[in-house]
Amino acid sequence: MSYHDHHFHPFGYAATLTGLEVYESRSIDDLRKRLADHAERTDGAVIAERLNDERLAEGRLPTAADLDEAVRDRPVLVYRYCGHIAVANTAALGLAGVSAGTPDPVGGSFDRGPDGAPTGVLRETAIDVVAARVADHVAPTLDSEIIEALSTLPKMGIDSVTAILSPGEPLWVGVEDEIGTLVRLAPDLPIAVDVLVATRDPQELTDAAHRLATAEGPVRFHGWKDFSDGSFGGHTAAMYEAYFDRPETTGTVRLDHARAIEMGFTSYKLGGIVAIHAIGDLANDMVLDVMEELIKRGVHPESTRIEHASIMTPAAIERMARLGVTASVQPAFIASEEDWLEKRLGPERMEMVYPFRSFLDAGIPMVGGSDAPVEHPDPRPAIQAAVERKGFNTEEALTREEAEALFSPPNR
Ligand SMILES: [Zn+2]
Repeated sequence: MSYHDHHFHPFGYAATLTGLEVYESRSIDDLRKRLADHAERTDGAVIAERLNDERLAEGRLPTAADLDEAVRDRPVLVYRYCGHIAVANTAALGLAGVSAGTPDPVGGSFDRGPDGAPTGVLRETAIDVVAARVADHVAPTLDSEIIEALSTLPKMGIDSVTAILSPGEPLWVGVEDEIGTLVRLAPDLPIAVDVLVATRDPQELTDAAHRLATAEGPVRFHGWKDFSDGSFGGHTAAMYEAYFDRPETTGTVRLDHARAIEMGFTSYKLGGIVAIHAIGDLANDMVLDVMEELIKRGVHPESTRIEHASIMTPAAIERMARLGVTASVQPAFIASEEDWLEKRLGPERMEMVYPFRSFLDAGIPMVGGSDAPVEHPDPRPAIQAAVERKGFNTEEALTREEAEALFSPPNR
């Protein structure tokens, strides 16, 4: 059996294998030790990947002050494992010029203390504000490290992936020009890579498609990717109803409808698909509005895809089926969110989350991915999670055969 991972971040994955990975941290003090140890062995900024704050004894995200105790004189950026939240130390905030007077960027926010001063917790696009400045202080990932990381995939049965790459500011710091790097590495790649380009600039998308066409290896342009919201873990997935454990928020909308229509057409004309991240029920409806308009105006339904489609109203599932939009799902989320998702959603919405059986029964085309480095790329435990659904509504379980089929290579 040869698997295809339909949602994969190759450079983020390489960063977790070559850099500092802190998923196993059990307390802020333990996190501090790991940061300080890493700082001693390296130069420049300290970047940590995959923090799971749900596992920390303190039961909260660290702050800039917490991180300063580990590393004060160099910038530190700690990413939550979903990638939608990061924590910066005071040096990193200073480098980016972020202070009490800095307004929140569109589609993101700085957590603030009572005096308006940023606490260091960055949500969604606020991460980019700091990461863009910190990136200059990070040693680039070596080509050999990237190839070595990707060489772990065939050992898990993965021969090809659909990768999300950014032509502008990198999605993960450490690789400067993600498209150029992939094109350069194409002759040596151990796997085939279909590329979804994450950008909001039509010209940048067109250029990326043309640059990918010059690759001398198993690399192809596959389309355009954008975000409409964030994650459950970061309280940024855009919901109709407030979070169960943070009743003051319903999440963060990152979608610009008119821009999405323009980008969608640009991608389609280039021979690509339209793939938009939507986790919350509100975000999924907003993305379906985009897809419906694109399809009405001539985009083939098979070229439209929602990344994650994590929670949807029954009416939205029906509309998605009628339109023929594909659901790109990540069964590994089920296993990793088992311990804490109910805190975010409450019991009622827990019944409705990751509705894989409902998708299949409605006739919605489905593909599966890991979203690595958010989750481990091995499809086998993910397939197991889709079948077992431990801690989740088991009526939405798939058979092993159905779950395996999510990871089949695309027929194109
Ligand atoms: Zn992703």
